[in-house]
Amino acid sequence: MPDCIFCKIINKEIPADIIFANENLVAFKDIHPKAPVHILLVPKKHLVSLNDLSEEDKVIMGDIVYQAKLLAKAQGIAETGYRLLTNTGPNSGQEVQHLHFHLLGGKPLASIG
Ligand code: 5GP
Ligand code: ZN
Repeated sequence: MPDCIFCKIINKEIPADIIFANENLVAFKDIHPKAPVHILLVPKKHLVSLNDLSEEDKVIMGDIVYQAKLLAKAQGIAETGYRLLTNTGPNSGQEVQHLHFHLLGGKPLASIG
């Protein structure tokens, strides 16, 4: 997708601190981390948000959640705890219009409830 910053990272047109990639997704460090561990898990397929999902995307979504679990372990935050979240649409504050999941941990996280 032209002018999509995350597509450009996926296509290696702009740099990012990539931690993991496979056929479904890329995981890289957030440029403005809000916690000691702040990784973005991004599907290689350009989807704007969860609102864009179709049934065929269930495999990609399952892989993202599974890889988040493995990354949390690798980053040493599995036991202390972490949060996996995605913002969808204006009321959520979604800034980048390419679906992404934030993996946050390494400190107590503010309650959002
Ligand atoms: P959102 O508010 O859309 O859920 O989150 C977007 C996230 O993307 C923010 O946490 C922001 O810091 C991060 N971000 C925006 N542009 C870039 C970039 O060019 N590189 C990286 N690594 N992260 C970015
Ligand atoms: Zn994109």
